[in-house]
Amino acid sequence: MKIIILGAPGAGKGTVAKLLCDFDGSIQISTGDILRAAVRAETELGKKAKGYMDRGDLVPDSLIMDIMEARLQEPDCDKGFILDGFPRTINQAEGLKELIKKLNINLDFVVNLEVPRDVILDRLTTRRTCSNPECQEIYNIKSKPPTADGKCEKCGSPVIQRDDETEEAITYRLETYNEKTAPLIGFYESEGSLKNFASVDSKETVEAIKKEL
Ligand code: ADP
Ligand code: ZN
Repeated sequence: MKIIILGAPGAGKGTVAKLLCDFDGSIQISTGDILRAAVRAETELGKKAKGYMDRGDLVPDSLIMDIMEARLQEPDCDKGFILDGFPRTINQAEGLKELIKKLNINLDFVVNLEVPRDVILDRLTTRRTCSNPECQEIYNIKSKPPTADGKCEKCGSPVIQRDDETEEAITYRLETYNEKTAPLIGFYESEGSLKNFASVDSKETVEAIKKEL
């Protein structure tokens, strides 16, 4: 499959994308993961992106378009891909439209994950992440806690709260989403490629998406 997943922070984009990849071997392309890896490795890209990310601001479109232009030409994209966290602005969506035309890629459709705001806030403030870069398993202090001493079930590394998942950063990320990313819903709707899915239970959401493939 070749799809885009849209949704507010905490809508479950990453979880849904992983389940869909398990289903048909498509790869998940997460600009957030690519950027966090660059920050950890202290590459030029990482140095440019870090300040924006820690504040909960979007990284400039030009950086993101360069990343994606290179990424979409990697051979593993032939297996199918799920874009998670990209595009995030109308500008990026227009850039992507040009890019896929140039690379001769056909997208199946755009998935919009719909979640009530209170559910989103609750999910984000209770979310924790495995600190091991190779693992990054997602936990939730209510619904999927780590071990009693705060370690990852999979790899044993400490499970932490991401810098951009403090209450202040979360509020700011949601505002940024409403202002910059929510307009993409209208953009893809008018292109005729948008499909809406309720995203409260990830497994049910995935089943609903599979039916549309
Ligand atoms: P979220 O949980 O908010 O969906 P991500 O893991 O997708 O977070 O992204 C984390 C951060 O990386 C964002 O807050 C932003 O700073 C940056 N980022 C990721 N994808 C993009 C993008 N497409 N455009 C601009 N900034 C991005
Ligand atoms: Zn782990």
